[in-house]
Amino acid sequence: MAVPKKRTSKSKVGMRRSHDFIKPVGVAICKNCGQPSVPHNICGFCNTYAGRNVKGTKSVVSTEKAE
Ligand SMILES: [Zn+2]
Repeated sequence: MAVPKKRTSKSKVGMRRSHDFIKPVGVAICKNCGQPSVPHNICGFCNTYAGRNVKGTKSVVSTEKAE
């Protein structure tokens, strides 16, 4: 079994962990309802993606526009 010869210093640990962070996810505005949503994901408010209705449920805003 390999055993480390020297103890890893706090400085080296900090340098290694300087890249261990999660980048913040950007915010996109839904084209259908105008609510903020995660980019490249279905809008949680009206269940649409790129203006198309997904999930089979009726979109509130799009039905109002059609009538
Ligand atoms: Zn939406």
